Amino acid sequence: MIKVEEKLYQNRYRVDADRPHIRIRNPELCNEQCDTHACTVCCPAGCWSFEDGKIGLITDGCLECGTCRVICDKFANVDWNYPRAGFGILFKFG
Ligand code: SF4
Repeated sequence: MIKVEEKLYQNRYRVDADRPHIRIRNPELCNEQCDTHACTVCCPAGCWSFEDGKIGLITDGCLECGTCRVICDKFANVDWNYPRAGFGILFKFG
């Protein structure tokens, strides 16, 4: 049986250097007021992290599912856009 991680590895991602399509509006809110950091658990691509009291986001590999935007319902602290045309996830099926 094939694992999810193996399926994800078949995808390709074109990085739009220095233009991440998702931004944290106010990282201080995440660091100091959010007590769940649900984004770090719910992101299927592992783009979010919370280490040493600081939120981290690396959008390379983002699946564009929108979960992080929805799950941050308390603070609405995720500025979410699709990548520019020609960038982002390239899904492969099969
Ligand atoms: Fe992760 Fe989905 Fe948010 Fe991309 S859109 S960072 S895959 S939760």
